[in-house]
Amino acid sequence: MERGERLMRNGFALAAIAALLASCGGNNQPAKSGASGVGKVDGALLTTGGDGSDWAMTGFNYSETRFSPLTQINADNVGKLGVAWFADMPDARGQEATPIVIDGKLFVTGPWSKVFAYDAVTGKPLWTYDPKVDPQKGVQACCDVVNRGVAAWKGRLYLGTLDGRLIALDAATGKEDWSVQTTDKAKPYTITGAPRVVKDMVLIGNGGAEFGVRGYVTAYDAATGAKKWRFYTVPNPTGAKDNEASDAAMAKAAPTWSANGQWKQSGGGGTVWDSIVYDPELDQLYLGVGNGSPWNHGLRSEGKGDNLFLSSIVALKPETGEYLWHYQETPAESWDFTATQPINLATLTIGGKQRKVLMQAPKNGFFYVIDRTNGTLINAGQFIPGVNWASGYDMKTGRPIENPAARYYKTGKPFLAVPSAIAAHNWQPMSFNPKAGLAYIPAQIVGAGYMASSDPLDQAKPIGFNVGENLGALMYPRDAATIKAATAGATGLLVAWDPVANKPRWTVKYPAPWNGGTMTTAGNLVFQGTALGEFRAYAADTGKQLLAYPVGTGIMAGAATYMAGGTQYVAVLAGRGGALPLSIGYAIGKAAEVPNHPRLIVFKLGGTVALPATTAPDSAAVPLPAASGTPEQVAQGRALFGRYCQVCHGASAAGGGGVLPNLQRSGTLGNADGWKSIVIDGALKDRGMVSFAKVLTPDQAQLIRLYVIDEAHWARKNLSTSGAAPVAPAR
Ligand code: CA
Repeated sequence: MERGERLMRNGFALAAIAALLASCGGNNQPAKSGASGVGKVDGALLTTGGDGSDWAMTGFNYSETRFSPLTQINADNVGKLGVAWFADMPDARGQEATPIVIDGKLFVTGPWSKVFAYDAVTGKPLWTYDPKVDPQKGVQACCDVVNRGVAAWKGRLYLGTLDGRLIALDAATGKEDWSVQTTDKAKPYTITGAPRVVKDMVLIGNGGAEFGVRGYVTAYDAATGAKKWRFYTVPNPTGAKDNEASDAAMAKAAPTWSANGQWKQSGGGGTVWDSIVYDPELDQLYLGVGNGSPWNHGLRSEGKGDNLFLSSIVALKPETGEYLWHYQETPAESWDFTATQPINLATLTIGGKQRKVLMQAPKNGFFYVIDRTNGTLINAGQFIPGVNWASGYDMKTGRPIENPAARYYKTGKPFLAVPSAIAAHNWQPMSFNPKAGLAYIPAQIVGAGYMASSDPLDQAKPIGFNVGENLGALMYPRDAATIKAATAGATGLLVAWDPVANKPRWTVKYPAPWNGGTMTTAGNLVFQGTALGEFRAYAADTGKQLLAYPVGTGIMAGAATYMAGGTQYVAVLAGRGGALPLSIGYAIGKAAEVPNHPRLIVFKLGGTVALPATTAPDSAAVPLPAASGTPEQVAQGRALFGRYCQVCHGASAAGGGGVLPNLQRSGTLGNADGWKSIVIDGALKDRGMVSFAKVLTPDQAQLIRLYVIDEAHWARKNLSTSGAAPVAPAR
């Protein structure tokens, strides 16, 4: 059906329902017919979150603090938490979604933008929805084929799909109601974030800045899918007027970009791929804007200008999308330092005054407290140790005090940055507990090297990252001591940050990075899953560990809590994936030994359900063909691997992280024809491994194979390998 025809048909149906509702004093827009509990979700419920019985949006309520008022589960009894029910999920490709729960129904998304509905008490499946994303789209997802959840509003659920669609579903049946393509399908846009619904408008952004796109957010009519407004975050590279809500703001941003530079071809980046937060108190929207495209500011903008609104928080008027104010966290961004991370709204007493603030702990390692009435910086403090790109902020100008060595494109030398593109804090949800006065940051310490590349292939490849960097520089040197140090150095932290004192109050250290998002409650609790396979609870005020429940798989998503039939539940999606396991290689450390099993787990006090055992990645010895590449062939293969393969298969071919195949263990390494059929002919395209024939010759594909064989021999000889014992999660 053509979209216009569909809109017309929906329009007629809706007109009839509207007439019906009008006669019984309905809202200004009709609720979806036939929907049950989701029909009640509106601006009033999302403003407060209600009494905590429902978890009606991924961030709990519009303030997105993920703070529940529920207290049945509390610091005194959380040790008695057990499993009420669980559901195994179909795709072991990264579980990032927070479930939403409304009137005893739980809705959650998984990889490939699939939606699953359950009875929240019994775990009985109600329906599933698969938007049937083409698996070949996976190669345009920088950070796995993940999805972070649905939004609910007046009987409908809203889903952003990896291939750029915004889809409205009938919450009662899971049937598609309307669908709009929000992106240019010819460009490498993706959607992984949850939509937000404000004033009968659905807001959705997109991703793709690693590949070369121009970022924007669009508002659609929640009932019909008709476009209301669009706000571009960076100027139009052609210089043309967009005739969109951002026109006036773009006129202001344009002088902060160079006349030429690679942004003219790439689109400049600035994608809004996660945080879009509505402030009902001030009636403002806040967009968390992403990194530049390409990353390298020297190439992107000839080393000139701040490049607004990259790495900024931008405030807009919800009805029209008009610009109100902005604060740029990382001017002239050059390290993939996004400002897309979760934003929490609160009112704090600072210096004896009540301040309406927004808080964010983005990739760059600084925790920002910003006055949300006007965008003024109040506090900026380093929330992980060792931040080396800037020493602090000039509070008069609101600008970072930079380390000149960090601008690698100016020095011509590589820069080992802490934090790095993997982030001091990535998308994993942060929470804020107003009773404890603390924000809980799922933080980590992961360094990485940056090295400028002026090779056109690092700016405009038809497949792969175009970030203006020599990505091969991220590969590990063949030195066991260095690799072991990198592994030991990549760690995780739970930081309980005091935004008034501008420093941590307590910190928990984890042996591996990429731990789960946080959720906090009035029961003086903070919940967090870990990369090594535990679901933990801490006292919100002191950080005392109160629970460490083994679940047999790594967790990275944030939890939700709800009340049904007089019982409080805590639900979390378990399973690994996302950017870090794919890209980081050896430094994933112990997490590589933990099973990756996609499973929704729901806890209650006294729950007695045993979780079935999960199986660790198989690390038994596999036959490895003899290393037959000459040193020259191996070196050429290594460079090609760095450019085309490592962002998914891990630096030094040591990756996959239990999410994608570890190529060092590939059964195809000894089979030159089989390798060619996969890499060149696309034999595994239906699993997301597209043909690389556009960028590699068959001979080059064989050079990569020779390199991986060589790397695997070296790793087996020089790095210890672990056993493959099944991990039993039941206690
Ligand atoms: Ca990025």
